[in-house]
Amino acid sequence: MSDFYKPSIEQIDLIIIGSGPAGLSTALHLLKEDQSLKERLIILEKDSHPRQKLCGGGITRYGLWTLKSLNIPYPLPIPFAVVEDIQIHYRNQTLRLSGDPLFHVFNRVEFDSYLLSVVKERGIKVRENEKVLEISYKPEGVIVKTEKNTYLAKIIVGADGSKGITRRLLTKRSKHNYVARVLELKYPSEEKSPLFLEKQAHFDFTPVTRHLQGYIWSFPSWVDGKPMLNLGIYDARVNKKGKKPNLLPLLEGYLTSLGFDMSHINIMGHPIHGFHPLNHFAAQRTILVGDAAGADTLFGEGIAPALGYGETAAQAIMHALKSNDFSFKNYRLQLLRSKVGRYLMLRWLGAAVSYRFSEFPLYMHALLAVGNLLAHFWHPGALDNVNRTDTKKIERIHHNHQMRT
Ligand SMILES: Cc1cc2nc3c(=O)[nH]c(=O)nc-3n(C[C@H](O)[C@H](O)[C@H](O)COP(=O)(O)OP(=O)(O)OC[C@H]3O[C@@H](n4cnc5c(N)ncnc54)[C@H](O)[C@@H]3O)c2cc1C
Repeated sequence: MSDFYKPSIEQIDLIIIGSGPAGLSTALHLLKEDQSLKERLIILEKDSHPRQKLCGGGITRYGLWTLKSLNIPYPLPIPFAVVEDIQIHYRNQTLRLSGDPLFHVFNRVEFDSYLLSVVKERGIKVRENEKVLEISYKPEGVIVKTEKNTYLAKIIVGADGSKGITRRLLTKRSKHNYVARVLELKYPSEEKSPLFLEKQAHFDFTPVTRHLQGYIWSFPSWVDGKPMLNLGIYDARVNKKGKKPNLLPLLEGYLTSLGFDMSHINIMGHPIHGFHPLNHFAAQRTILVGDAAGADTLFGEGIAPALGYGETAAQAIMHALKSNDFSFKNYRLQLLRSKVGRYLMLRWLGAAVSYRFSEFPLYMHALLAVGNLLAHFWHPGALDNVNRTDTKKIERIHHNHQMRT
């Protein structure tokens, strides 16, 4: 008897694997397209929220816009720090960008939990503590085996992150496999410290002189009601022939030289699967979103793109369900032409060129000089007609949150 007829198999149109920003955004975009989909879709998540997730939690304007387009209240009713001034450093040169805001910094545990609560409130079924173990393809559909059930789905969405099963399924033979290395730590701070007061973030590219294909960052964040500096190092590994620096001593040495006491600080790391236009984004009955498809290679930004992937994937899925064509054979082109595709292509191009030449000081100085010129003409307005820097509103969010916890 084929798997299809076994009574224990649950049949469903759509399965989203993973409830990070990519999976949740895909679900919300699908619902925006067709309300009836909430009966035909489930999200499977191996953990249960609130779950730990190593991440800086910086969400740029593109991500904040995507949330707004999903009718999610803005500003989000969870604590966040605001960044309005980005300073990009290289040796003694600095490029400054300003905007209202440039990004918001969330605690990922709270952000993902909040987004999940919106998804549940809108009627989508989420099955937590149900890890997907195996995926196989039959002419009738995709068989998804979990720790608890077996499903037969018309389409699956791989939103299970950089180390997930779906990415491995599709990309195992890919030559274009960028895997960035990232280390992060949280350092106790004060609300009166310059980064909080000035709403500043720093990205220091000086370590490119020591073979780093990336930067060391610092920005303000709130963790469990406490102000913390979010610090870390990003190494894109776009130029695979380049020397591989040892990230831990590089980061520790850098921070110690700035006066940070690193003796009791816990530093953690996680890879980020990078975007390449030739990555495998889809296959028969399968679409990848978020880190599974590929995050920004230049800065390692993944949350805003993960939210953006949801929009493009939802459009392709709607078309597949209507036409009964589950091949997704034009999906790469669709993706590369979409908002998220163009965003990631630009970053990929920037990374591919810059991290090949970044060890040459002349190139870096020229890049920052051009950046400064462009920044002079770039004036991003407020995100909407509500003033994002409305301190009272943000204070109220922090206060309400502390009352609840
Ligand atoms: C140290 C660090 C700092 C970062 N800082 C930033 C930042 O400041 N800003 C930014 O934009 N990006 C940042 N990123 C990148 C960002 O974290 C990711 O790009 C983002 O989380 C991608 O979202 P996602 O939904 O694709 O995947 P994830 O958030 O990883 O979600 C995947 C989900 O799938 C679930 N899952 C996995 N396997 C299975 C399975 N077999 N069955 C069921 N469920 C499964 C996981 O439990 C998880 O909930 C950072 C990354 C790192 C490592």
